[in-house]
Amino acid sequence: MASKKIAVIGGGIFGLEIATALMGAGHKVTLFEKENGVMLKTTSNNQNRLHLGLHYPRDMKTARQSRFGFDKFIKKYPGSVRTGFTNYYAVSSESTQTSTEAFVEFAKTAEIPIMPISPNGARDCGFNVELIDSLWACKEAVVDIEVYRKLALKAAVSVNLPIMLSTEISSANFDGRLWTLNSNGVDKGSFEFIVRATYGQDRMTINVTPENPIVYEFQQTLVFEVSSKAKLFGLTVVDGDFVTILPRGFSGNFLIYSPLPSVLNRYVGESVPRSWNFDDQHMIESSFKKVSERAVMYAPVLGEISLTNVLTAIRALQPFVSKTDQRVSFHTNPYPNFYDIQSGKIDHAIEIAESLCALLPA
Ligand SMILES: Cc1cc2nc3c(=O)[nH]c(=O)nc-3n(C[C@H](O)[C@H](O)[C@H](O)COP(=O)(O)OP(=O)(O)OC[C@H]3O[C@@H](n4cnc5c(N)ncnc54)[C@H](O)[C@@H]3O)c2cc1C
Repeated sequence: MASKKIAVIGGGIFGLEIATALMGAGHKVTLFEKENGVMLKTTSNNQNRLHLGLHYPRDMKTARQSRFGFDKFIKKYPGSVRTGFTNYYAVSSESTQTSTEAFVEFAKTAEIPIMPISPNGARDCGFNVELIDSLWACKEAVVDIEVYRKLALKAAVSVNLPIMLSTEISSANFDGRLWTLNSNGVDKGSFEFIVRATYGQDRMTINVTPENPIVYEFQQTLVFEVSSKAKLFGLTVVDGDFVTILPRGFSGNFLIYSPLPSVLNRYVGESVPRSWNFDDQHMIESSFKKVSERAVMYAPVLGEISLTNVLTAIRALQPFVSKTDQRVSFHTNPYPNFYDIQSGKIDHAIEIAESLCALLPA
């Protein structure tokens, strides 16, 4: 095998990890990113949970991938991971898609340690025990994305990875041997392999018909950063339209999110609707009202909270996964010498980068 000329499109956590790993493995890699910096899109605007897998009691595959991704991520970027706060999962007392028994069985099968907290303990934590069937402490963590960005960029610099910022790839043409990339009329060179890690958010035209067109469920999402006088903790109520409260990295603030009120729009198709933007202040305020009320309802310990920041992002899921809530990460090969990344969780990025290195030995 020989070193290959590879373009990675998209500088989120997946693109950056993959490009750095392929370059480190001996390939000639160029990373193209549309924005004027890396990791400015969904990677920086999510709930920042370093998943252990507990959030997905209906999908063992997601749980297992997260469980392994968690260990890999902490080992590689320990300085970016915040641990040491008390972190809980609660099984809701009503309308949940799991049950206390099923959750315990799932955690055991997935080999994720959880520790029971008694109703008195839950009350002492400042949670609303009326709404909670059972409470569990776990060792899940959060990632400070700003710290991670610095560490990941340092790794990229150490292998001399060229990063082309403010370069939106608009088309890719395959001549049977090489791919030629174009950025809005400007030739960006020819490559033997393409890795697309745009989280479904490019609008590239490609001159080859894919065997299976890629379809996503896109969601327009809001995560709210709030300040509170409460001591930092994490609380995730499963499994359904409840709430997640987590510290935001090392900031001292919390991030809050709720599956239905935090999602402004959904669309199933090949690309994000052009009409989507985050300009509707009324919708944002109404979402914040619902999410914050829900957070305080489950965790009265939060007390008065003030909004400090609104994190806006588009999520790209495999469509029709609502039954299992599956969030796995994998790569597909829809065109010749062209790999597409489907991203589920941030801590899966290292495994996917390793997998591509194994597929493309230098
Ligand atoms: C509300 C919400 C909460 C979430 N919470 C968590 C969580 O707590 N924990 C977790 O693990 N995961 C979470 N996720 C999922 C996680 O955020 C994503 O899986 C991950 O960030 C995707 O990373 P990425 O690199 O694939 O995409 P992105 O970070 O979006 O990167 C894609 C990059 O491609 C670039 N790009 C797009 N088109 C082009 C083009 N044509 N040319 C060049 N560049 C282009 C974009 O500018 C962007 O920088 C959450 C997602 C959402 C939406």
